[in-house]
Parts: sequence; C-alpha cells; structure tokens
Amino acid sequence: MGRPKKYRIVEYLLKPTDFKPNRKTNGYVELTIDELEAIRLADLENMYQEDAAHVMGVSRQTFGRIVKSAHMKIADAVVNTKEIKIGKDETCRDVKLIKCPSCGKIWRVPIDYNKLRCPECHAKNVEVIKINDNEGEK
Ligand SMILES: [Zn+2]
Repeated sequence: MGRPKKYRIVEYLLKPTDFKPNRKTNGYVELTIDELEAIRLADLENMYQEDAAHVMGVSRQTFGRIVKSAHMKIADAVVNTKEIKIGKDETCRDVKLIKCPSCGKIWRVPIDYNKLRCPECHAKNVEVIKINDNEGEK
C-alpha cells in the first residue's frame, strides 16, 4: 500500500518563487512548498512542532524532518550564495477547511485527515466549514 508523499497543506497561499542573490550564484537549492509551509509555521508562527504537524497533516517526526531539511537548504543558500527555488512541480492534495468555534482559528487539513484538534487552543469540537478549498493556488 502506497503512502502519499506530498502533503502540501498550506494555510496561506504560498506561491512558487525564486530568490536570487544579487551577485554571481553558486548553483541553487530547491525548497518545496511543504518546506516553506513548515518553516512558516515553526519559525514565523512559532508553533510547537506537534501542533504544526497537526496543521500540515503529518507526524511530528515527519514535520521535524521537513523543517530540518528546509533549514539546511536555506543555510546552504545564504552561506554559499545560492539561488533558492521554491515550489517546483508539486501537486496539491485535496484539503478541507476547518474552523474552531472556541477561538475562531481557521486552517486546512488533508481531506482524509480526521484526527482534528485546534492548533491554537487545542479544542476538539472543531467543524468542517468547506471541502476542497484549493482555489487561489493556481
Ligand atoms: Zn481554537
């Protein structure tokens, strides 16, 4: 039985893009949308890895691996003057939009993900407000 490899559960509409140093580059690194979302949650939102893993629909171990991989690529790019290419050739998984009635937090999870818990206040009585909310990711 095959396991889906790409999760790409992005709460924000992260877009593929390229970062280029304004001097001669030494090649490039490729950051996936998963990795971008993982560092957004871990480093910008300052979420606990366990909660962030819930948001992305992956295990805590997997989330840790994604974050580590992203940090290494970014460090490599910054230290060694490499270009960063983000989000190439990735397919989107079907997602559903979840809302927490307690704190109002809205986030996305994979369509087949049912262990739902609010990443913000940890409430369990969350509700599905929209299925397959992928528009805007064109
Ligand atoms: Zn909540």
